[in-house]
Amino acid sequence: MNPLTNTRVLDELVSIDKVEFKSEWQFEDRKTGVFYRNGVIPNKLFLTLLGGDIELESAKNAIKILGNMFRSGVLENCEYIRIADYSKVTRASINTRILYANTLNRLNSEYHCHPSITYICGASILLKTMLRLFASYVKQKLIFVPTLQDAFDLINNRNGTASAEKLHQITVSSQEMDEFAAECGHILFDEFYTIDETKNFISPNNPLHPLYTIISLLNDDLRELKRTEKEQKQKIKATLEHARVLNKELSDQKKNIEEKEQIQQILIENLKLARENAEIASEAKSEFLANISHEIRTPLHAVLGMTELLLYTALNNEQKNYTDTILTSAKQLHHLINDILDFSKIESGQLDQEKSLFDLRILFDDISSILAGSALKKSLPLTFTIPSTIPPALWGNAIYLRQALINLVQNAIKFTYKGKIVVSAEPVSETPFEFNLRISVKDTGIGIPEEKKELIFQRFTQLDSSATRKEGGTGLGLAIATQLISFMGGSLRLNSCENEGSEFWFILSFRKPKKESDTTETNASMPDTVLAMLPETASECQKPVDSTPPKNPRILLVEDNIINQQVATAMLTKLAYTVDISVNGLEAIEALKKKPYALVIMDLQMPHMGGFEATKNIRKPETGVLNPNIPVIALTANATKEDRENCLKAGMNDFITKPVMMQVLQELLQKWAPRSQ
Ligand code: ADP
Repeated sequence: MNPLTNTRVLDELVSIDKVEFKSEWQFEDRKTGVFYRNGVIPNKLFLTLLGGDIELESAKNAIKILGNMFRSGVLENCEYIRIADYSKVTRASINTRILYANTLNRLNSEYHCHPSITYICGASILLKTMLRLFASYVKQKLIFVPTLQDAFDLINNRNGTASAEKLHQITVSSQEMDEFAAECGHILFDEFYTIDETKNFISPNNPLHPLYTIISLLNDDLRELKRTEKEQKQKIKATLEHARVLNKELSDQKKNIEEKEQIQQILIENLKLARENAEIASEAKSEFLANISHEIRTPLHAVLGMTELLLYTALNNEQKNYTDTILTSAKQLHHLINDILDFSKIESGQLDQEKSLFDLRILFDDISSILAGSALKKSLPLTFTIPSTIPPALWGNAIYLRQALINLVQNAIKFTYKGKIVVSAEPVSETPFEFNLRISVKDTGIGIPEEKKELIFQRFTQLDSSATRKEGGTGLGLAIATQLISFMGGSLRLNSCENEGSEFWFILSFRKPKKESDTTETNASMPDTVLAMLPETASECQKPVDSTPPKNPRILLVEDNIINQQVATAMLTKLAYTVDISVNGLEAIEALKKKPYALVIMDLQMPHMGGFEATKNIRKPETGVLNPNIPVIALTANATKEDRENCLKAGMNDFITKPVMMQVLQELLQKWAPRSQ
């Protein structure tokens, strides 16, 4: 017998080497570091080495292998010695202990065995106290020893190093445990129950001393916990407050952004509306200008026409002088209307992107033929220079170049009294694909004072000099040239010295023709679209069939405006044509059914049936006019590109814009209804 433990000592010496550890009795979780190692000396000793932070999951695994071990029959119908080494346990919850103890109790009774004594190695004070409390519950006798070796020494009855703690076994009923738990509950929550060791009113010999010590420690821990909990709570509160402030700021900002987005949306809407309005206004402006141009052209047509007719009558010198002045003023007015209409077109972006092949030499010739007369009148040589290196075909917008140059040359002639005017083109650089040309109009005229150089490019600006007054002008010529040149990719520059002369110049790129064959067909004169220089007639239309022309061809004039009727009749009669008048399209068709006419001059806007519809009907054979192919010439105050296109589309052969000059009318009639001289 072991005197200390009062238990039966085994017949043979036991040691760890004699303990069998089968692999299926082991459990280890490398991740958490929890382990349960079970070993037995069959029916004599049951050793468990356990360690780590034991959670319920691990305990479940532990009882599984415990079952394995009992099933292998190593502990059956016997009384064995149990050793549990807790020295490596960092934590074990009460639930895991209860689960484990219950399982062990169950297996013991199932296999008719039980531990005679249990050695607990390396248990903490808390564990010891707990195990003491639960000693009866697990129905075991417990001996606490510091190490495993101490346990073996005691079992082998060696007194050497082994030192079993004095065991005061306490048997506690479940009811007492409940009461204790209730008491603990109070103690844990009220400092009144705290056991203050310094007062030392519980003697260390009292078997409950360790328990009181534990409770005291727990209470200290709890107080510490409560303190940190309070601090944590304060921190959480502060953090929450901070979060609340942030949240508020965030929601304010969100609101702000939403408001800004709304404002932005409104601004976008307003902008859209403004753009729509601007577009509508621009359309209205264009329409207004087209209308006003139409309205002005009609009386101007009468003024110019009648003045010209007047000049054909016998006038004395004074009368001729007055009439000449009327004619000049009327022509200036005509020019102004054209300029305004052009400028409004440029401003509203109605420029044509279309480019064509053209020969710069022919373009220069063309300008020369238009303006040489006025230069000659002032005895000013007007020369055009172009080096032979410039190819005969360039790709660009000849119409706009022509118009810009006409405006510049007109000004040069206007503001020069002696000397000369030189128009030149020089290549400045060349790539395989394009030519860059410097084009200039240089005069030896009055020049432009330094401080006025910028001013003259603004529209409706004329320098207040006697020359400008004398020569007249719209103040739009330079503005139009500037816009056209910038549309073509250049910019109009000026070098000028007062009283010495001016040079207006610009550099433009012209693409070279792609193929050699492209150079053969160039077009320097006007393609279809023109601005100020809208041709008075459209020359590309079908030519009449040649036959012996009558002496006084009969012309049907379809026109509702009485003054226009008078002007046209007078002009046509003067040109030796016979004229009949219809006041609208319906009347015209009736007339064409009855008499053979050589030509129809057709107004566009008339009551009952306008010019477009009338022409369409004339062309239909079923209408029954005598000659459905009769040349129809539109006579219109509408000078827009669309009008012109519409005329041709309706089946008209040509068109002439009001105001009509006698010479232009004569040329047109000669082309479409020639008369024998
Ligand atoms: P305008 O129809 O009056 O000629 P422009 O816009 O063509 O209108 O020209 C504006 C003004 O610039 C002219 O009135 C004139 O004072 C000045 N100007 C233009 N070209 C010349 C030039 N070659 N020499 C001197 N002054 C010129």
